[in-house]
Amino acid sequence: MKRLFLVLALVAFAITNVAAQKRIPETVNLLPNTQRRVEIILPQVNGMNVYKADLHTHSIYSDAELTPEQRVREAWLDGLDIFAMTDHVEYRRHEPNMLKFLKGYNDGKAKKAINYNVIRKAATEEGIKADLNLPTQLAQKAAKAYGEAMLIIPACEITREPKTIGHFNALFTTDNNAIYDIDPMQSLRNARKQGALITQNHPGWSRKNCNITEFEQAAFDEGLIDGVEIMNGISFYPKAMQRCIDKKLYMLACTDVHGLTSTYRNCGVFRTMTFIFAKENTSKAIRKALEKRQTLAYSAGHIAGESALLQEFFKASVNCKLLAHGKKGSSYALTNTTSIGYKLRVGRSTLELPPFQTITINVGLDKEGKHKDVVLHVANMWEVGYKNPKIVYKAAKK
Ligand SMILES: [Zn+2]
Ligand SMILES: [Zn+2]
Repeated sequence: MKRLFLVLALVAFAITNVAAQKRIPETVNLLPNTQRRVEIILPQVNGMNVYKADLHTHSIYSDAELTPEQRVREAWLDGLDIFAMTDHVEYRRHEPNMLKFLKGYNDGKAKKAINYNVIRKAATEEGIKADLNLPTQLAQKAAKAYGEAMLIIPACEITREPKTIGHFNALFTTDNNAIYDIDPMQSLRNARKQGALITQNHPGWSRKNCNITEFEQAAFDEGLIDGVEIMNGISFYPKAMQRCIDKKLYMLACTDVHGLTSTYRNCGVFRTMTFIFAKENTSKAIRKALEKRQTLAYSAGHIAGESALLQEFFKASVNCKLLAHGKKGSSYALTNTTSIGYKLRVGRSTLELPPFQTITINVGLDKEGKHKDVVLHVANMWEVGYKNPKIVYKAAKK
């Protein structure tokens, strides 16, 4: 009887509690249907805005964990402005499961997925049955929720044997279903026929080095490659930067995310991304910026790219202001106006300049007793040759 009373009391408590549906107090930031985005503040550089892009990601329509809609939401919450859904043309791991799930459709005829893994062996004449435009279309639809704040670039990843051929992202495609060919070079040509820009992805992945393979050389000779992913996830391919300078190719950093980007957040860094310098966040302007190689690569707090652009980006980010001239030298305030933290080498010391903070530094006199310039090396920026850029602020007059 005692037990029955206890059970009845618990049921009564549960019923009244559910019926009340009280919201947990103090949850102003967790209201239903609101979202909270990280804002990554970057400077304007030479009159250009700096947009944040991830041009290499995957969804359940190839071999990743999230839907395109979830990818778009994740990208927006992570502070991005530009996004590309680049599912593999040749590898769509979930297709057999999708067919199992859809067993009642198609008169039950399609029992087995076909040609869903044609990375190493060619597709049969039945070809690829999936609609490879769907991931981008779903992403575009989801992005409408953010108006002009999120630009989706139609794209896909041409995915072949990594050691000798490699992976290539086709950006600004018009029909992903018209790209596959048994011959990978023909696939690249098909993408080019659509006016796509083509990126060489993760150039050292699954290989002993970053050297250009025979296939890649032939693709370069045909003018089929426009850019290189110098950072992929948290991998950095500094040797590929020289290739970008020599062959006039844009440099990208992308997540190539298959799991969740919260992994980055949990480690205290922004997700890997490309900074694109453009007048506006439109397809036309962003494409032009890539063609003009107006990009910097960001991964795990490090920024890489062409020397001049690194210099301009840093000087637009960090103000250097004279505080006082003294008998032994002068003191300056370095103010970081951005969300990107810097590590600076000044003389023999290394200093942290966190986001939105100011540090002061002292600069001595030269042999003639004149005030020296402020000279520093940015230890988390990388130019060609795996070198840190040297930044000089001219000595301020009194
Ligand atoms: Zn790949
Ligand atoms: Zn990929």
